Amino acid sequence: MNPTTPAATRTAEIAARLAPEMTALRRRLHADPELELQNPRTQRAILDQLAGLELEITTGSGLTSVVAVLRGGKRTESSPVVLLRGDMDGLPVAERTGLDFASSNGLMHACGHDLHVAGLVGAVKILHELRAELAGDVVFMFQPGEEGPGGAAPMIAEGLLTAAGRRVDAAYALHVGAAGHPKGTWSGRPGPLMSAADEVYLTVVGRGGHGSQPFLAKDPVPVACEIVLALQTMVTRRFDIFDPVVVTVGKISAGTKDNIIGDTAVIEATVRTFSTENREQIQREIVQLANGICGAHGLTAEIDYRPGYPVTVNDPDEYALMVATVTEMFGAERFFEMPFPEAGSEDFSFVANEVPSSYLFLSAAPGDEPKSAPDNHSALATFDDSVLADGAALLAEVALRRLNR
Ligand SMILES: [Zn+2]
Repeated sequence: MNPTTPAATRTAEIAARLAPEMTALRRRLHADPELELQNPRTQRAILDQLAGLELEITTGSGLTSVVAVLRGGKRTESSPVVLLRGDMDGLPVAERTGLDFASSNGLMHACGHDLHVAGLVGAVKILHELRAELAGDVVFMFQPGEEGPGGAAPMIAEGLLTAAGRRVDAAYALHVGAAGHPKGTWSGRPGPLMSAADEVYLTVVGRGGHGSQPFLAKDPVPVACEIVLALQTMVTRRFDIFDPVVVTVGKISAGTKDNIIGDTAVIEATVRTFSTENREQIQREIVQLANGICGAHGLTAEIDYRPGYPVTVNDPDEYALMVATVTEMFGAERFFEMPFPEAGSEDFSFVANEVPSSYLFLSAAPGDEPKSAPDNHSALATFDDSVLADGAALLAEVALRRLNR
């Protein structure tokens, strides 16, 4: 097998040349994280990096997103459009890494999104150098709010997927990790990659009274307890164990004092599913179960089901392209196919719901003990930014191959 194509060599070569400026950008961003949907300083840094390039740039109106369209020199009106995505936001974590470019503003790039921005800027510059030979267009998606409340859905509503004038045909993203596999290892799987994460707020509505005379009241507490237990039974009896469902009641609250029956009891639960079918079914089951148990005791249920991020699904064909590119560029020994999905969730799922997509993990774990390193979201998490060139080259190469195949 020929390990690298000439194109692969060129994207990797350009990425290696850009590595020092990607590293510098990443460290500037790391020192100054921002939260949620408003990341104006990060947006400014991206726009400064893209200034002077032949791009069509738009910024978000409801959020500080950046969308850049690169027109390929070999494009026609019917040639494909691919999308590459990087998220921008940090977390409300007080950094304790001791790095000389650590954040001191009380927030932290504890999930490595600073590397995602710097890597995607690198991918823009690589593909810009190669633009004469691209047989299609590339949409670069810089999105805030991945850690919540979600930036992908508003960007789609503002026209992201038709930014090139035609609809995006395929989308790709990657995520760096601070722990787990050795640095430079890629991982992923076809089909479901990460779970959907929904919240449910379930109020058992009874009628309060004196604790000594429960027959005169409608006590919501035993009914709420019955619901909590029945939820677990329902999960095991109503769902295939090979398509897992997790329901965890993380909070239950009722009452004020031992001898007072309150009016209501509130159950708060997180719901994780790995298929759209289960995600729809569990919502119906929870409503039916809560109404049924409350009704059996003469009480009523009020159910506030709040959908979060959908299941992140890797399209088999786009995933195969991404994996083939990884193994050809970096060697098969640097790719690991995950046997199971992860129970985390991802805002990119809104894009993947709309167009065939693929998403891979890239380990940026520092040192020789990646398994015991502090993981993403920890105040001690560190990301080795020597992986930036590989990440940028991979995204650029996948886009190039998808457009020119
Ligand atoms: Zn993240």
